[in-house]
Amino acid sequence: MDRIQNFINGAFSDPISNQWIDNYQPATGKVYCEIPASKAEDIDRAYQAAESAFESWSNLKSSERFHHMMNVANGIRERMEEFAQAESKDNGKPVSLARAVDIPRAISNFEFYASAATQFASESHYTEGLGINYTLRRPLGVVGCISPWNLPLYLFSWKIAPALAAGNTVVAKPSEITPMTAFLLSEVLRDVGFPKGVLNIVHGLGPDAGESICMHPGIKAISFTGGTNTGKRIIEKAGTQFKKLSLELGGKNPNLIFADCDYDEMLKTTVQSSFANQGQICLCGSRILVEDSIYEKFKADFVSKVSKMEVGNPALDTTKMGAVVSKPHMEKILSYIEIAKSEGGEVLCGGRRAVLPGELSEGYYVEPTVIENLDQECRTNQEEIFGPVVTIDRFATPAEALQKANATPYGLAASVWTNDLKRAHRVAEALHTGIVWVNCWLQRDLRTPFGGVKNSGVGREGGFEAMQFFTEPKNVCIKY
Ligand code: NAD
Repeated sequence: MDRIQNFINGAFSDPISNQWIDNYQPATGKVYCEIPASKAEDIDRAYQAAESAFESWSNLKSSERFHHMMNVANGIRERMEEFAQAESKDNGKPVSLARAVDIPRAISNFEFYASAATQFASESHYTEGLGINYTLRRPLGVVGCISPWNLPLYLFSWKIAPALAAGNTVVAKPSEITPMTAFLLSEVLRDVGFPKGVLNIVHGLGPDAGESICMHPGIKAISFTGGTNTGKRIIEKAGTQFKKLSLELGGKNPNLIFADCDYDEMLKTTVQSSFANQGQICLCGSRILVEDSIYEKFKADFVSKVSKMEVGNPALDTTKMGAVVSKPHMEKILSYIEIAKSEGGEVLCGGRRAVLPGELSEGYYVEPTVIENLDQECRTNQEEIFGPVVTIDRFATPAEALQKANATPYGLAASVWTNDLKRAHRVAEALHTGIVWVNCWLQRDLRTPFGGVKNSGVGREGGFEAMQFFTEPKNVCIKY
């Protein structure tokens, strides 16, 4: 059985306990490798390495940090196809998606923040009659980065890159469900001669390795992306130690579709925003709200398109919908479809596990599913399913659309489809979300603030927001 290892202080190592976790391939449902079941003692080793490396890394010129981070970006690019194949095998996502989105974006994350290191500046405030205040922004020290399984390398690098660019050293843990591209990243770090101890990658379970990162007294900040309940637990554990926390959590995003939109473009994008990555993107729209006058047409066209989507082997270039990430996750998704039925929902298409032939017969496949006839207060519309399941509902007025859109405890993202400029601005402002897309979806400019309100998180990633999170501001007041 193949095994991957931790990467601590520039070298590969086994977990101290010599305990291992099975890693499953979602396409086949079979175990294909083992990963370290790291514990607090491994996290402490990683911390010691990061702590030793902090002084030299934080004192490098930003142009030198730029150089090291660009080497990492180039190292991933050179092995692009291998990374894409590994992401697909580990996660179940179509390899074409990993090639087009996940791995290029991970490269961009390192490139973007390599540049940001050289562009970051701090503020000054002139005070009449006194003099000037200026803000020093220094790195925090050793920071922890914890990421989920849905966009494995994409989100892992989205945290690590700004932490490094700002001059911190890092202890990072990818999801135990999708560790493989983080392991390949360790190989790149070794091969490009990335300074030892600056980025340490430790594998293991959330309640063990993850919680040990959050509880380590020397780790100054936690950047976490994952579920809302895990976020709550991290606040309870790490918050009491006064660590800085950035929490990117769950979502239950609405799409608001007005009758005056560009219909064909809306329809095509709504299929994507519902089912890309098997619906396992925190930004997927899972509650589709459609203006009365086009509801029946939308329903017929949408269901017709979704019914034609084929679930297939993620390793094939032609596959658009692959496997969901794990057996428990597949069972959770299927259980929500049953909940929807018990709440009076009518399944318009999909609704079942998809069974593929041959060696894929034990894989974790779910048919893309559209459900109607549910109010916004039911569990199906209130709780995050995080799979290929959407509901459709109607509204008569913009006020009703907004009332329905805002009626969940989540507030990550929303999409609005309209050609009425004034309405687009008004609705965007009134939505209780951190991100609004108008007439598009998932368009990302890496300089913009990224994050949610309500139970979708605390803080913002992206651009200089992340650099500010990973630095401590100190005001210096000078009297003239
Ligand atoms: P999860 O919360 O189960 O796990 C995320 C990470 O946290 C994993 O690395 C896991 O090992 C670790 N972890 C688990 N328990 C922990 C603990 N007690 N202490 C410290 N770390 C712990 O989430 P998941 O199932 O991997 O990911 C799916 C969730 O992530 C969904 O809710 C989705 O909406 C959310 N998500 C949010 C965003 C965003 O930007 N807001 C992006 C992607 C995914």
